[in-house]
Amino acid sequence: MAAAVPSAQTPEDFVLHPHPVVSLPVTGTDKRFPVHRIYCVGRNYAAHAVEMGHDPDKEPPFFFQKNPDNLVVESDRFPYPDATTDVHHEIELVVALAKGGTDIPLDQALDTVYGYAVGLDMTRRDLQGQAKKQGRPWEVGKAFEHSAPCGPISPVAETGHLDQGEISLIVNGERRQEGDLNQLIWKVPETIAYLSGLFELAPGDLIFTGTPAGVGPVVRGDVMVGHIEGLGDLKVQVT
Ligand code: MN
Repeated sequence: MAAAVPSAQTPEDFVLHPHPVVSLPVTGTDKRFPVHRIYCVGRNYAAHAVEMGHDPDKEPPFFFQKNPDNLVVESDRFPYPDATTDVHHEIELVVALAKGGTDIPLDQALDTVYGYAVGLDMTRRDLQGQAKKQGRPWEVGKAFEHSAPCGPISPVAETGHLDQGEISLIVNGERRQEGDLNQLIWKVPETIAYLSGLFELAPGDLIFTGTPAGVGPVVRGDVMVGHIEGLGDLKVQVT
């Protein structure tokens, strides 16, 4: 689970012992990546291969956020959440920033990246659908407990930058989602540059970059295995 927030025995325990910062392991080391904010990109893959690296229907990217304590860290369990009967999987490339700033130029955007990870943007689709219909915020659909399982961060120094390669999700042995990182409508540097015009980015920020086609529901007992070429697999069971 995410860094469990300890319950205070007394009010003094609460104010004298601040919650630990949520952090992710860094592959190949005993270091930790401390998480600041979690930004997520809305629809960011064309349904089919992007022809000639150009999408004529390109619209500005849009964003929502999850909370750092929504992360599922170093656990292979996703507890089925309350208040929903339609929880969907979304396999995503996660970008971890070691530098921040505002109005970051496109040609400097990749300099902010510390590394990459495999993540799941678990979504209460029924609640998100209601929110969309009513013009309300998406938090109830997106930013609930355990909604962001995430694997360890692989440093760029090890992997290089990831701009192509398979991204897929297998559920109970069946391939449900499949795409290629080269199908991202908004590439990683574009996403960072654009986002930095809206928010002040900071070291520790994570960006979930969107999911390829094939999202769908899970039920208790399902085993999800997310794969991104160049990173390890992320295996999570719905409990
Ligand atoms: Mn998503």
